[in-house]
Amino acid sequence: MTQRIASCICGQLSARVDGEPVRVSVCHCLNCKRRSGSAFAVQARFPADRVQMSGEARTFDLTGDSGGVATFTFCPTCSGTVAFVNAGMEDLIAIPVGAFAEVDFPAPGVEVYAERKCGWVEVVGDMERWD
Ligand SMILES: [Zn+2]
Ligand SMILES: [Zn+2]
Repeated sequence: MTQRIASCICGQLSARVDGEPVRVSVCHCLNCKRRSGSAFAVQARFPADRVQMSGEARTFDLTGDSGGVATFTFCPTCSGTVAFVNAGMEDLIAIPVGAFAEVDFPAPGVEVYAERKCGWVEVVGDMERWD
């Protein structure tokens, strides 16, 4: 089974995942821009029982503009987010794809919050797209 390790930039906090992600999505929402520090975010979701976190972590809860609450797990040293979970979807753990630092990571199948996409961004490929 494929095994991957995601980590924060200082390497203190990591997540080992077994198997392929069940969903890879691109999100253009404003919270994802702020969290990632980038123009959009890409995250991969894995069944919670296939994710093993290690290292010291802190968490915070944020209510998104859809009204849903997400809990973010981040490194207290470098502040990098390594995992997050949406309330009501605790069986799936989302991991920022950048944390895997893997060039050949599986492509996204879903693009959400397209209405908040920066005008100079285009995510190519065949995928579901939602405003
Ligand atoms: Zn760190
Ligand atoms: Zn988002």
